[in-house]
Amino acid sequence: MNKFIPYGHQCIDEDDIRAVVETLRSDFLTQGPKVIEFEEALARYCGAKYAVSFSSGTAALHGAYFAAGVGGGDEVITSPLTFLATANAALFLGGRPVFVDIEPDTGNIDAKLIEPAVTSKTKVIVPVHFAGHPAEMERIAGIAKKNNLIVIEDACHALGAKYKNTTIGDCKYSVMAVFSFHPVKSITTGEGGAVLTNSKEYYERLVVFRQHGVTKADGAFVNKDENAGQWYHEMQHLGYNYRLTDIQCALGISQLAKLDKFIQQRRQIVDAYAGAFKDNPFFDFPVEKDDVESAWHLYAIRLKAAYKGVKKKIFEELRRQQIGVQVHYIPVHLQPYYQQLGYSRGLCPKAKDFYEREISLPLYPTMSKEDIDYVMQKVPDVFDLYGKRR
Ligand SMILES: *Cc1c(COP(=O)(O)O)cnc(C)c1O
Repeated sequence: MNKFIPYGHQCIDEDDIRAVVETLRSDFLTQGPKVIEFEEALARYCGAKYAVSFSSGTAALHGAYFAAGVGGGDEVITSPLTFLATANAALFLGGRPVFVDIEPDTGNIDAKLIEPAVTSKTKVIVPVHFAGHPAEMERIAGIAKKNNLIVIEDACHALGAKYKNTTIGDCKYSVMAVFSFHPVKSITTGEGGAVLTNSKEYYERLVVFRQHGVTKADGAFVNKDENAGQWYHEMQHLGYNYRLTDIQCALGISQLAKLDKFIQQRRQIVDAYAGAFKDNPFFDFPVEKDDVESAWHLYAIRLKAAYKGVKKKIFEELRRQQIGVQVHYIPVHLQPYYQQLGYSRGLCPKAKDFYEREISLPLYPTMSKEDIDYVMQKVPDVFDLYGKRR
């Protein structure tokens, strides 16, 4: 029997381990040179001016929404087909997530539906690049410009993706882009995240928010008098300790150097899957539009209508066969917490339908050839079983 094949997994090699150990032997475990080095490398890779590291993607989203000025009653338009944190971070600041339905093929926010959802309270639009496939950024940027809104990309799936010859994270069509370095993402720091931006003003707000709302910049003080010496600092905002450590950033630097190789390896598996699953009667496999290069965070298949009713059985059988499938995502507005806040269950029917059909198959750079072959052979077998039995 095969060993369990997870849907996603980190890729750690001896260079990564060496980088972490070297930092453990150095003078700085946190707030040292590796943080700056990682941020600079990330900004360079993406082609943005600034990168600010955070302790998680969730903390980075919180920081980005804070920097954008999200506060009491401000509306944040996003997709319900996302990880909870995209919406929760608006609630952290007293904002209100507004869910806009998705495109059934990519699973991304449907840009056509954004403008009708804009109100006088809308402040931010947050497209999520579902499964690593960039959303329609040019169109979203146009809507934002026309309505005076801020675009923040939840790019947690999409480090290494391309959109119309731009790199996700260069913020060509947004003010900020947010990444996560959780082990299942493109690269990992254990936990970790970052916000990229080209704006000095946003950069400064992100840095302050990450360290308790405290500023040490002489020019920024509002209360300093002549008796205040070099120790002086001011807390001007309510911030958090959301720092990423040097230990983690050392891992991040080492991982970032392998990012392009990781994406290439993911793509090879996707190509193999596409060959094996073409013309199958069971499910649609993921699309990649002509003007993008996905980061292939997930391999999200969508069951054809005839199999929607037996998804639970198929999912359980795949798991029993050691194929670590997952489902992305239960739409956020259907969660009990959001139901209590009064979100209607009937919102976003396409996201609900996507959820009811979606299964994520294993996809990560170091998947062995045996595991890939096993998945390609077993998945149709399992569908066949339940197709006939129905
Ligand atoms: C992973 C993820 C996050 C949160 O990142 P963490 O690092 O786990 O806090 C946010 N949004 C999306 C779309 C994600 O996939």
